[in-house]
Amino acid sequence: MPGPAPAQLPELLDQYDGVLVDAYGVLCDSQGALPGAAALIEALQLRGRPWAVVTNDASRLADTVAARLERFGVAVPADHVITSGSLLPAHFAAHGLVGRRCAVLGPADSVRYVEAAGGVVVHPADRGAPLEAIVVCDDAIDPFLPTIEATLGAAVAALDAGVELALVLPNPDLVYPRGAGEWGLTAGTIAAMIETALHRLRPGAPCFVALGKPHAPMYAEARRRVGPGRVLAIGDQLDTDIAGALAAGMDAALVASGVSRWRPGLTPEPTWLLDALTPARP
Ligand SMILES: [Mg+2]
Repeated sequence: MPGPAPAQLPELLDQYDGVLVDAYGVLCDSQGALPGAAALIEALQLRGRPWAVVTNDASRLADTVAARLERFGVAVPADHVITSGSLLPAHFAAHGLVGRRCAVLGPADSVRYVEAAGGVVVHPADRGAPLEAIVVCDDAIDPFLPTIEATLGAAVAALDAGVELALVLPNPDLVYPRGAGEWGLTAGTIAAMIETALHRLRPGAPCFVALGKPHAPMYAEARRRVGPGRVLAIGDQLDTDIAGALAAGMDAALVASGVSRWRPGLTPEPTWLLDALTPARP
């Protein structure tokens, strides 16, 4: 088998009608912009074809993501950012969750995402009326263990009251690189913890429904934004960026600046390999 082909930016872009770019591990890390990120965005803007930054982040509104990238010197307009949090309104509307009592795990912008979707945000320790949904957006949970345990208790109480409890996970990422060989836990790991405990206490309890990469809701929204035609997705994680794009019928380029490193035999197999976002020329 030939395996994925090495490729170079910006030449690769010429083969595609639309381009999706992951944020963390491709355009930036926690320290700032990665080499070539600003030039890639400039090249995408100059092409005049559709493109979007696609991120599983549900802890920052699109404006906040764009402002953060701007501070790093990467000029991404907010209307070119698709976050997993922005998938919540469509999910809430499609699943009858508008007006439902929701516990939200994550910072202030996560709460704003759920409110924008029509959820009624309540504290998990508030037992005034049964909880109807739990939305795990982010690992920024303070105080961590008491909030998780209150959420678990509220979930058990809701199920015992006969509520059809919805568990929603915009960002299914499990880990993220903190730099210098250190790793952080992401919302997907928090949801797995709650789900494991909940199923131990109430077998048959629902499972979390994930919206972000590699799951279909994110790619449906991305396709809506970039339109028909050939789409290239550039990402750093095989199990999210690459797997999701391929499943959605898009080509996928793995860039070796973040989580995953390619070696033969791994799956899924990206279409292209990029050593880095080499400086793009207009
Ligand atoms: Mg990434």
